[in-house]
Amino acid sequence: MQSELLANGDHNRANIHQLDDTLINQIAAGEVIERPASLLKELLENSIDAGSSKIEVQVDRGGMKRVLVRDNGFGIPRDQLVLALSRHATSKISDVEDLYHMQTMGFRGEALPSIAAVSRLNIQSRTADQESAYSLSVHGGKQQAGPRPAALGVGTTVEVNDLFYNTPARRKFLRTEKTEFNHCDSLVRKIALANPGVEIEFVHDGRTSLQVAGSDSDQARARRLARICGKPFAEQSVYFQDDVDVMSLQGWMGLPTFSRSQRDLQYFFVNGRPVSDSLVSHAARRAYSDVLYHGRHPAYVLYFSIDPALVDVNVHPAKSEVRFRESRAVHDYIYRTLHRIIAELSPGDAEVSMPSPQSVQAATSGSGGYGSFPAQQNIRMMVQDQLSAYELLASTAASDPEQPISETAQDHKEIPPLGYAIAQFRGIYILAENSTGLVLVDMHAAHERITYETLKRQLDDNQVASLPLLVPLQLNISGPEIRAIESFQAQLTEMGFEIGLFGDEQIVVRSVPELLKHADVENLVRDVISDLQEFGTSDRVTNAMHEVLSSVACHGSVRANRKLEIAEMNALLRQMEIVERSGQCNHGRPTWMSVTLSEIDKWFMRGR
Ligand code: ADP
Ligand code: MG
Repeated sequence: MQSELLANGDHNRANIHQLDDTLINQIAAGEVIERPASLLKELLENSIDAGSSKIEVQVDRGGMKRVLVRDNGFGIPRDQLVLALSRHATSKISDVEDLYHMQTMGFRGEALPSIAAVSRLNIQSRTADQESAYSLSVHGGKQQAGPRPAALGVGTTVEVNDLFYNTPARRKFLRTEKTEFNHCDSLVRKIALANPGVEIEFVHDGRTSLQVAGSDSDQARARRLARICGKPFAEQSVYFQDDVDVMSLQGWMGLPTFSRSQRDLQYFFVNGRPVSDSLVSHAARRAYSDVLYHGRHPAYVLYFSIDPALVDVNVHPAKSEVRFRESRAVHDYIYRTLHRIIAELSPGDAEVSMPSPQSVQAATSGSGGYGSFPAQQNIRMMVQDQLSAYELLASTAASDPEQPISETAQDHKEIPPLGYAIAQFRGIYILAENSTGLVLVDMHAAHERITYETLKRQLDDNQVASLPLLVPLQLNISGPEIRAIESFQAQLTEMGFEIGLFGDEQIVVRSVPELLKHADVENLVRDVISDLQEFGTSDRVTNAMHEVLSSVACHGSVRANRKLEIAEMNALLRQMEIVERSGQCNHGRPTWMSVTLSEIDKWFMRGR
């Protein structure tokens, strides 16, 4: 009986044996070297770790034929060249504690031997105290000859030819040259952003694809940003800096009006290391959620710094992910910082294309505005004003009898940022003059935003009303989800849900937030629970309520072609100056634009 079972099938047992080094390295290469861009990443990080100030990259045929990286770093001494190419050999750490205060990009001592196991690799290197450079070649993991003298300045050049030539199965996973090149290109851009002081030249098939000088000043950094991320982003983003005890965040945030159809312009660096982190992208998405049209993605370049003891970088072979010890605190900090800056943005910021000292300061102080839009305070609307939110124009105009109807910019020394209305144009736009020139306002879009922000504020101030369902909803859910509900009962109640546990794998939803009585409750509840499990918070309910408010705001706002009095227009302008995020309508389009007098003079060739 038993012998029958053993004989079954054609699995013949082989003897256990030790794998040889080449095979071990080829297996290891499977983890880190997926495509040309991944080996390029390892080589570039080695160059950065070597303190290079200049790096040259050459890539042929998407990197599948050849990748060369030349740096001017401190080099590798002749007697350590062979060691550099052997497994688990590194100069960067010596004990496990070092992992928790990493100053270098690499530390696993695996990259060079892994690459050399699946390609034809040549390395040339010279340290400052050597007369000559030495060169070593390894093909498919086999060393070709001992280190030989070579002609090279101080630094290191690594050339990798014919990736995967000896592992044809892996070669089949490579994509077209163009795709592989695109991966290399975005990698080089990422490294260039992460290391603003390093000069980088990137040549593909003999053509320069990116060339950036090392930057030391703010201006040079902004120029570099424009080269790497494109001029439109550089022009339509604001620079900011924020610091708290153990964390800091700085970088460029794209204006909401500069949204993207893809997530291709989202860079995040943790202590100088490019990472993709779902926690962070969630925080950023959340910060932008209210100012972006559905399906659009924000653009940003963010540098996050944290005490290295609070972040684990050794969780992924390619080190493209990190783990934060206080992940919720990190999420919270990033969200709050970005959210605050977005709330302070205005369309005038687009004019601030280069980071100026003022814009940096404004962002750091946390309360200032940007560009031409000075600091503003919020006026909390009273709860009783619910109705008047719909009649905002009339009510504010009436409550401000001081303001003479015929006010003009000339009558006042202190001209408000959006100036004073002079006319209504085509029933759509308000024309106003301020101290610098002409302001045009899309009155429906602006009013809609103000109404919406006001309604949201009221929602924040009041408890969310909860509405009992006529027929309670029973849902089957999993064990971990049940535990999430148990531990987040308070949050769920606050959102307006009443959820009872019913056996091991069932819940009963008894009440839902009143504003969402027409929503798809089942999906909403499921999504909320999965958010709570993953992030500890959920914005779904708020977002869904905001959608309802947004449509209320649209219906309750002045329509095009309604004739407005000058006083009503001025009231709208004053509201816009007060209300957060009034620079964009609810769909992320601008609500106002301005043109300066000197620009207008130029149209008419009028010298002043
Ligand atoms: P790791 O970077 O994890 O230490 P690698 O296999 O990438 O492992 O590199 C092995 C060692 O070779 C490094 O620790 C470093 O000492 C040396 N090395 C590699 N590339 C360079 C370079 N461009 N300049 C100077 N030293 C280098
Ligand atoms: Mg390395």
